[in-house]
Amino acid sequence: MAADPKQRLRIRRFGLAMAYYAIWITLTLLAQSAGMLRLDAIGVATCIGGVVASNVAFFMVFRSGLNQRLRDPGVTLQQLIVGLVWALVLLHATVPAARGLMLTALIIPMLFGMFQLEKRGYLLLGSLALGGYTGIAAATAGMPGAPTLGVELMRVAVLASAILWTSLFSLHARRLRQCLQKQNRTLKTMLAEISELAERDELTKAYNRRYIMESLQEEKKRADRTRMPFSICIFDLDHFKEINDRYGHITGDRVLVDFVERLRSELRYFDALDRREDDLRFARYGGEEFILLLPHTNLSGARHCAERIRSITADARFASRCHITVSVGVAEFRIGESIESTLRRADGALYLSKQLGRNRVETSDEFSSAWRDPQSTPPLAIRQRPT
Ligand code: GH3
Ligand code: MG
Ligand code: MG
Repeated sequence: MAADPKQRLRIRRFGLAMAYYAIWITLTLLAQSAGMLRLDAIGVATCIGGVVASNVAFFMVFRSGLNQRLRDPGVTLQQLIVGLVWALVLLHATVPAARGLMLTALIIPMLFGMFQLEKRGYLLLGSLALGGYTGIAAATAGMPGAPTLGVELMRVAVLASAILWTSLFSLHARRLRQCLQKQNRTLKTMLAEISELAERDELTKAYNRRYIMESLQEEKKRADRTRMPFSICIFDLDHFKEINDRYGHITGDRVLVDFVERLRSELRYFDALDRREDDLRFARYGGEEFILLLPHTNLSGARHCAERIRSITADARFASRCHITVSVGVAEFRIGESIESTLRRADGALYLSKQLGRNRVETSDEFSSAWRDPQSTPPLAIRQRPT
């Protein structure tokens, strides 16, 4: 079965056409046994063989994927023209007296085309149906049992009006389809904007706190299941109040945006380096604090990454002129522990790096040896960190 959902849909639609042919083959056999066809058994078998062969050919085109190279991969017009030609063959083989009954065989391909064809294709199909029927009526005029000219003209008029109505419906259906497609596109764009708003921080466009907390919970579940490590780094810009005081809040904002931008390009480098399956996820945790989630990374790998970011930050200038530094706390998730506990350890490590002079990276291991009981100290201390 084709993997492309559109190709699967085309093959399914082709199955629908097969059902239509199955009905017409049955009706042909019934008409032949009722003496309504001017064909013997061999003639009928030849027609049925032709129908089957032409559809096997279409099926091969779909199966081989050849159709995907065509302008219309649905091969709709070609299929409908072949269907119409077979309907005309059947009409031609029908005794003139019973031909009126078989007229619907011409309408059904028009109905199929109503939702699929462009204007030109639909006009071509309509002209073929009308011209084909008129030709058959002319060719068989004067045959024994042939209807009078008046009856035949009436049939052509009925057929023409049916084609006209299906054409009008087809125009309407196309307009509706275009409208739906437009609405669909608008909805998709809006959905993308909404999920962007729900996931991203407005100022820096980094992920927001809600998103990273959900990601951390998912990563925990995965790590508990697969026992693959992951680590988190918490970044806190040093003396950021001074940046605001010295350059103003707007410049402070620009520094934050700039910091995230630089960090992003640095993370792209790490992603490319490790050819990771999962992206590193970077979020604004609050104010001037950020969290980095490093899937499949142990403590030393995370420390290396954090150290690189710290050093790049210290060397750069932000918002064209500001020097800033960043302190980082790193923790590796321990299988079975809660995310809150990992965060607490990373926060404790961050607290330690502030204590030890800022512009540093500390890990939760160092933090644990500095405080005997890592569970009890940080929560209060973290939020009341000395400035
Ligand atoms: P340190 O972390 O090194 O201890 O010092 P700090 O000056 O950074 O201290 P603290 O974390 O207590 O203060 C953070 C400051 O960041 C306070 C606030 O004015 C500023 N800040 C938080 N969010 C924003 C923001 O969105 N824009 C700007 N411009 N400033 C912010
Ligand atoms: Mg802070
Ligand atoms: Mg700070």
